Amino acid sequence: MSDYRYDVIIIGTGAGGGTLAYHLAPSGKRILILERGDYVPREKANWDPKIVNVEGHYNTKESWLDKDGKDLHPHTNYYVGGNTKFYGAALFRLRKEDFSELRHHGGISPEWPISYDELESYYTQAENLYQVHGNRGEDPTEPSASSPYPWPAVSHEPRIQQLSDDFAHAGLKPFHVPVGVMLDEKNPHKSRCIRCGTCDGFSCLVGAKSDAQVVCVDEAIKHPNVTLLTNSLVKKLETGPSGHEVKSVVVERNGRVEAYSADIVVVSCGAINSAALLLRSANDKHPHGLANNSDVVGRNYMGHTNSVLMAVSKCPNPTIFQKTLGVNDYYFGSSDWQYPMGHISFVGKLDAITLRAGAPAIAPNFTLELMAQHSLDFWLTSEDLPDPNNRVTIGRDGKIVLSYTPNNLEAHERLQAKLKHAMKQTNCAMHGHECHQGLFGRNLYVGQRIPLAGVAHQNGTIRFGHDPKTSALDVNCKAHDVNNLYVVDGSFFPSSAAVNPALTIMANALRVGDHLLDQLGAATVAKEHQLVGAGD
Ligand SMILES: Cc1cc2nc3c(=O)[nH]c(=O)nc-3n(C[C@H](O)[C@H](O)[C@H](O)COP(=O)(O)OP(=O)(O)OC[C@H]3O[C@@H](n4cnc5c(N)ncnc54)[C@H](O)[C@@H]3O)c2cc1C
Ligand code: SF4
Repeated sequence: MSDYRYDVIIIGTGAGGGTLAYHLAPSGKRILILERGDYVPREKANWDPKIVNVEGHYNTKESWLDKDGKDLHPHTNYYVGGNTKFYGAALFRLRKEDFSELRHHGGISPEWPISYDELESYYTQAENLYQVHGNRGEDPTEPSASSPYPWPAVSHEPRIQQLSDDFAHAGLKPFHVPVGVMLDEKNPHKSRCIRCGTCDGFSCLVGAKSDAQVVCVDEAIKHPNVTLLTNSLVKKLETGPSGHEVKSVVVERNGRVEAYSADIVVVSCGAINSAALLLRSANDKHPHGLANNSDVVGRNYMGHTNSVLMAVSKCPNPTIFQKTLGVNDYYFGSSDWQYPMGHISFVGKLDAITLRAGAPAIAPNFTLELMAQHSLDFWLTSEDLPDPNNRVTIGRDGKIVLSYTPNNLEAHERLQAKLKHAMKQTNCAMHGHECHQGLFGRNLYVGQRIPLAGVAHQNGTIRFGHDPKTSALDVNCKAHDVNNLYVVDGSFFPSSAAVNPALTIMANALRVGDHLLDQLGAATVAKEHQLVGAGD
């Protein structure tokens, strides 16, 4: 075990861990960041749909098990920056109502222990940090915000603008999706982002996506007090004799086992791996897993009910950057259905190569090339509800077991029906109302065909709350049972809401970061340095 003691160890560099590292770095405290992966190599393959989507080149090769003991190849990535390296960078705030109890058709979405207002200023900070482009006031469900988006919305390309106009004409309130890309449309010659067609699901070859590596980790390690160790897989957390403190972080690095220690240990491995790490760290004082007196660690796994629906039109869709339009009119229900349905937006433009690997339904008279050239590729998200039986456990051979039975499905079916109906309202000057030939459900997880493998929106496995009997973390995301252990990734969510999770994970990491700076007696130093940095 190394004699050197850190003030803080952060495990994982994604939306949670990367953002926290950035926030704590100016404090001068000795910070060690442990990341199991390496940097995503910068290579032409970053933007190659066959290599990325069909071959799954950058996905982990790890295999997990589902509840029936069948192999599960998770669509997840272990790199500096975590899954934000590959995300679509749609950076939404949860709705204010998502923080309260909400009745769904499938059951109750529980209240959070903090209100939207308590997170609001951190959402603003996160939007500034991740350079979110958006227009306030367009989205009918958007919560109030204390400041405008730092950048104007990414504009729609003509086909998407036409769809937006059609939806508005039909009485909907389409809006520009808030996205974290470093696009400067006013000064295109200076813009770092080139508005390409390989963003959502791809790593950005030119470093213009606001991901946790580019925005946070690269900045954090400029501080001499911050050390990043890559290829460092944390295997276990060991406690001291009392069981109240993590004494040692056991790491496998370069084929060797090493141990590190710190006053504060922050786990941010993603909701599934963080739960797995705590469960694997069971000991005499914590027989059911570290910080798991409540028996909630690993339980209440949520990942959203997501689907991709392709609307194939007679009119072509030559859009390059498609992820600009959203519809939240059905988020909380509609005049004919009182329950929440969810959120509609877009995935990156699908191409024939990607479709070839995963498309089940091909329209008559359409080749895959034609289908890709004519499709609008919608992304639909509905809330899945916390169910203690939907859970992460560790199998006898040490593998992660992800048991999940979908719920609240009628909400999603109704959302799909609403979109199909809305598409029928759209018109086309050339082809009239029949322009849209149909909507096709498609398995996004190409080559794997296991919907559970799509763990992109994983959350909820180490929920926070006031009551140590029903939650593993307190409101500051500190383990109820362990004094120096925190969790800042997507696992703290008590409910999943129905918008993408990353901005909430980032905002919460900033909130927990402020608490940690107080604990370390470093709040003032960090603030001063952040102000200096802001003026640079
Ligand atoms: C293709 C794709 C598209 C997406 N699009 C969007 C989007 O548009 N908007 C949105 O909000 N969200 C999106 N998401 C989801 C978003 O990326 C995640 O919500 C977010 O990254 C989760 O942050 P996290 O900190 O919980 O975990 P992660 O970002 O997954 O970070 C976890 C980190 O921990 C590391 N790690 C894991 N285990 C260990 C260990 N034992 N030891 C050391 N290190 C470890 C991992 O390598 C990783 O770096 C998308 C995800 C994917 C895959
Ligand atoms: S250049 Fe822009 S659109 Fe292309 S991957 Fe990078 S951030 Fe995304």
